[in-house]
Amino acid sequence: MKKGKMIILSGPSGCGKTTISHYLLSKFSNLKFSVSCTTRSIRNNEKHGKDYYFISMNTFISKIKKYQFLEWEEVYPKLFYGTLKNEILKIWKSNKHVLFDIDVKGGLNLKKKYPNNSLSIFIMVNSMNLLKKRLIKRNSETLKNQINARLNKAKKENNYAKLFDFILFNIDLFQTKKKIIQIVSNFIYDK
Ligand code: 5GP
Repeated sequence: MKKGKMIILSGPSGCGKTTISHYLLSKFSNLKFSVSCTTRSIRNNEKHGKDYYFISMNTFISKIKKYQFLEWEEVYPKLFYGTLKNEILKIWKSNKHVLFDIDVKGGLNLKKKYPNNSLSIFIMVNSMNLLKKRLIKRNSETLKNQINARLNKAKKENNYAKLFDFILFNIDLFQTKKKIIQIVSNFIYDK
């Protein structure tokens, strides 16, 4: 089977990864989103099988034991996320490239495993206050400790930005979109 390419989007929760990945998917018909498994509960605007596969902890553990994950992480305390090997193979089989929205550790793991066919992009927000405002506005992290968990993680994640192929400061979404289209086109259409 032909091996396609991988585009890895990482960055702190609330940095705009989801918006950017939806934008990329609307612009590149040969790009497909890798739907991850998660043990977190579903949000109002989400769909099982589209945003994530929402599964129980027991099912998650059984998938680990059966080596079904390409990578997995306890992204937040007691909340697990993982990329299924099958998901990627399915996408490559359909002659498409894979788009990942993944945490920093997971993103760097994929980059290490696939150095020759991956592009890694770190989306950066240059102010913790701005990130906090976005997380509150998103209204999904209603509990204060959930917001704090994400902010604490963001501080640590920013230290790894330099290990990515590109760092994009998401200050002005219009500019970010313009830049990312360029970066992704160069990578996808480079023979
Ligand atoms: P959220 O709960 O806000 O959707 O996502 C939390 C974090 O988990 C985000 O940073 C997202 O990129 C990351 N994430 C989503 N899927 C995966 C995955 O399969 N593996 C890893 N390591 N992180 C993931």
